[in-house]
Amino acid sequence: MSNEPSTVKHWQGALRTFCKPQGLIPLPHQPLHHHSTWRIGGPADFLLEPTSWPQVGALLRWAEEHAVPALVIGKGSNLLFGDVGVRGIVIKIGRSLAGLSIIGTTVRAEAGISASRLARAAGLAGLAGLEHIVGIPGTLGGLVAMNGGSLLRNIGEAIVEVRTIDRHGAPTTWPHADCVFAYRHSRFQDEDFIITEIVLELAPAARTEIMAEMLAILRERRRRFPLTLPSCGSVFKSDPRLYESVGPAGAVIEKLGFKGRRVGDAEVNSRHANFIVNVGAARARDVIELVGIIRQTVQDRLGHTLACEVKYVDERARVCPLDQVLDR
Ligand SMILES: Cc1cc2nc3c(=O)[nH]c(=O)nc-3n(C[C@H](O)[C@H](O)[C@H](O)COP(=O)(O)OP(=O)(O)OC[C@H]3O[C@@H](n4cnc5c(N)ncnc54)[C@H](O)[C@@H]3O)c2cc1C
Repeated sequence: MSNEPSTVKHWQGALRTFCKPQGLIPLPHQPLHHHSTWRIGGPADFLLEPTSWPQVGALLRWAEEHAVPALVIGKGSNLLFGDVGVRGIVIKIGRSLAGLSIIGTTVRAEAGISASRLARAAGLAGLAGLEHIVGIPGTLGGLVAMNGGSLLRNIGEAIVEVRTIDRHGAPTTWPHADCVFAYRHSRFQDEDFIITEIVLELAPAARTEIMAEMLAILRERRRRFPLTLPSCGSVFKSDPRLYESVGPAGAVIEKLGFKGRRVGDAEVNSRHANFIVNVGAARARDVIELVGIIRQTVQDRLGHTLACEVKYVDERARVCPLDQVLDR
């Protein structure tokens, strides 16, 4: 966005006027802690939940034309919103944009479908390959942007193509080879494209076996992760060099004695040390301070720089890995 954003006062009337004929309802002063699994974050000037892709495209175009910061989110399960929130609009992609069709071994899904719902639907259709995403509490769009997954797998493996729109609403189709999938990375993190639809190719398998595997994965997730406390899952990425010499990030943090360590109401979880949980009214700055202490200790004691999987959203709706906030 080239222009400086205007003040809310200046553009809120224009947004309301724009939304009315489209049937869009801009919710003012929306606390972003309601839209983050960490339950942290100040207010967004406006939050909108479009019910069609043309609405998403039109909103993005409107924001671009009015130089208003705009951020697209899914379930906010990988985002730390800042304590002052977002001076702009947050566009939430959810249940209304969650269509799914399965023909043979090809699955087409809209970005708003939940990862777990997609995994179950594929399993019930006798298609294997998505068992590892069951229980991940995000949307498919967020998962593809993050190239997330579990058990050393990632969603990108099963993807044939990704459809997107840009900030002017223009569509593009990206074949797998152009998505730049790598560990917890895709081109959609670096470039300003909104994922609308994903085409996946899966393998036929016995439905009972797929469903049994998913149940086992869910059991294991319940055993290992603190699922009843607000968090954003693993804070730090796995580092292959560190993994070889000491172990996964969680084990490293545990060995350094961080379990139970708190800053404000942000606490290193005692079950899984790569989870920072919100035990009350944690603020973004508590999480940032705690992440900084852990990262500095790992650097001093082991000579490794931990990178964050979790992303930070600043006041201007810009997203970056949380560790980049510490490096500023
Ligand atoms: C308890 C818990 C367990 C977790 N376990 C795992 C796990 O096992 N494996 C794993 O990989 N992750 C895990 N996560 C993290 C998180 O669930 C995933 O990263 C998830 O895929 C994020 O999806 P989301 O819809 O919540 O995205 P959000 O957090 O809303 O957004 C994440 C990023 O994606 C972008 N984005 C969202 N939607 C779109 C879209 N349609 N188009 C373009 N960009 C978009 C956002 O702008 C943001 O940059 C866990 C989180 C929690 C809380």
